[in-house]
Order: sequence, then structure tokens, then C-alpha cells
Amino acid sequence: MKPAPFDYVRPGTLEEALQALAGHPEAKVLAGGQSLVPLLSMRLAAPAVLVDINALPGLDHVVADASGVRIGALARHARVLADPGVARVQPLVSLALANVAHATIRNRGTTVGSLVHADAAAEMPMVLRLLGGSVDVTGPQGRRTIAVEDLYVGPLESSLHHDEIAVEAFFPALAAGTGVAFEEIARRHGDYAMCGVAAMVAVDGDRVTNVRAGYLSVSDVPAVVDLTDALGGEVTAAALDRAADAALAVLEPETDIHATADYRAHLARVLTARVVTAAYQNARKEQQA
Ligand SMILES: Cc1cc2nc3c(=O)[nH]c(=O)nc-3n(C[C@H](O)[C@H](O)[C@H](O)COP(=O)(O)OP(=O)(O)OC[C@H]3O[C@@H](n4cnc5c(N)ncnc54)[C@H](O)[C@@H]3O)c2cc1C
Repeated sequence: MKPAPFDYVRPGTLEEALQALAGHPEAKVLAGGQSLVPLLSMRLAAPAVLVDINALPGLDHVVADASGVRIGALARHARVLADPGVARVQPLVSLALANVAHATIRNRGTTVGSLVHADAAAEMPMVLRLLGGSVDVTGPQGRRTIAVEDLYVGPLESSLHHDEIAVEAFFPALAAGTGVAFEEIARRHGDYAMCGVAAMVAVDGDRVTNVRAGYLSVSDVPAVVDLTDALGGEVTAAALDRAADAALAVLEPETDIHATADYRAHLARVLTARVVTAAYQNARKEQQA
């Protein structure tokens, strides 16, 4: 299929881009186009105007410092993934990005575009939520920061207003005594996963003091579950089983053409045990370093 007809503008400044959006309630921002263009081609979206932000200056930065990682709206997944500072400051960003699509798509798709596209099957919205990050947006009323808890309001729906542009995402740094891990199962390498799980575990000696897990493809919006009480401070087979039970009490896996709800639940259970164990081991290593 071909897209429905649309107008196209490619502004050279943020102000012009905001004007173009403000003048057209049916306009859409075009970043890497790796989600939007397929939607246009399948006629699942038919915006009257595309506002291409690729010529805007100063939005392709990737900055990693002691506080965390800041990613500009035009930084491609591949660039973020290749940045050694990102892997050092917040390894979960790099671990998850390596699972986003194929190399060709990562060369063009933007991490911020993925965050505001708000797909619960995508890796980065879940990671942002697990880490408690935020997205900065600019609109007619100026710049504001949206905490991730306020960002995801429904399936494929973020709280951005139609006349706002996301300019930067922030992922907090890994805290001392904390470890992270990520794993997903997809039918083919590069496909959206049938289920994926990330874990963040904090330790004091060999005791677990805090554990949270993020889940993709098993809920409508990116899901994060606090497993601290269920784990009860230890990483044993029985504790991991309790943690998986606690997660599945909250998650709502659904059947689709890729997997049944039961199979997704099984994957969530298996992956919870694997990533909590790996994150615990990473936290212990971090503590001993
Ligand atoms: C075959 C294939 C496989 C894929 N597999 C995966 C996968 O496994 N995991 C995964 O996470 N993703 C996957 N993707 C999607 C890919 O990661 C996209 O790049 C990403 O989701 C969107 O980024 P983009 O820059 O391409 O955004 P676009 O496609 O340009 O835009 C997506 C949406 O976000 C809005 N938007 C984008 N940027 C901004 C902004 N700065 N401000 C306001 N609104 C904005 C657009 O208006 C649009 O609604 C896949 C894509 C394809 C084609």
C-alpha cells in the first residue's frame, strides 16, 4: 500500500518546527521514520502534514556524566549504542538498545522517537520507566520535563501534546551497589520480542535490598513491578518463583499471532528468574570492585 497524500515541511529551526505543528492539528513529527513511515504505508496513520525535524540543529547529542545519560531527539539508536560513556554510566541503556530491531533500523531510528512512540513492545520505554527517567519537550508554552510516570497514558499513547516536540531524554546513572540485566525472546533476531525483562537489583553485602523488574510485550503500557517483598532479600529458586508469581499477578499478557498469553506468561517467569539472578551477580561484582 501507499501512504495517503500528505504535505511535508522540513524546518531549519525549532521555532519554525513548532509553528508548523501549531498551525496544523493533524500534523505529525517525523524523526527517523522507522515506526511512522510503516504506519503511513499501511494507512494506520494519515497525518495531513509531516514536520521533518531532521534538519534541526543541536539535537543529536549523547552526553553521559555522573548524573546519567542525556540523549538528544536526533541521536540515532546506533550512535547511543556505540557510546562507551553510556555503557559505563547506565549499562541497561546499552544492553536494551542492542536488542532494538536490526542494525539498519538502528542507524536511522532515534531513541527519543522510540520513547515517545510509546510502544509497550519496545525496549526503551520500559527501560526509561524502570530507571525512573524523563523526557524534555518544547511547545508553545516553552520547555517542560515529563517524568516517566506521567509519560505513558495508554497503548501507543504518550502525554505529549500534539504541538510539542520531544527534545531530550534523561536516563539516571546506575547507583552504587546496584546491578542491571536484560534479556528477551524474539522469534527472529531483530524482531519485536514476544517477551522481554529487565531487572535492577540493589544489594547490601549478599542481601538484596531492592529489586524492580520491567516487562515488555506483556501489557498495554510499559510495565514495571517492585519484587522486593516477594524476593525476601535472597536469590534462591523459591524466592525467584515467588518473584515471578508477584510479577504475573500484575502483568496482562495477551494472545496474538506471535504467541499465546500462556506462552508469554511462561517466558515472563523464566526471564524474571534469569535477569534477577544476573542483575544480582552484577550488583555483587559492582560492590566488590
Ligand atoms: C522492521 C522493524 C523492526 C523494529 N523492531 C523494533 C524493536 O525490536 N524494538 C524497538 O524498540 N523498536 C523497533 N522498531 C522501531 C524503531 O526502533 C523506531 O526507530 C522507533 O520506534 C521510532 O523512532 P523513529 O526516530 O524512527 O521515529 P518515527 O518513526 O519518526 O516516529 C515515531 C512516532 O514518534 C513521534 N516522534 C518521533 N520523534 C519525535 C519527537 N522528537 N517529538 C515528538 N514526536 C516524535 C512521531 O510523530 C511518530 O508518531 C522496529 C522498526 C522496524 C521497521
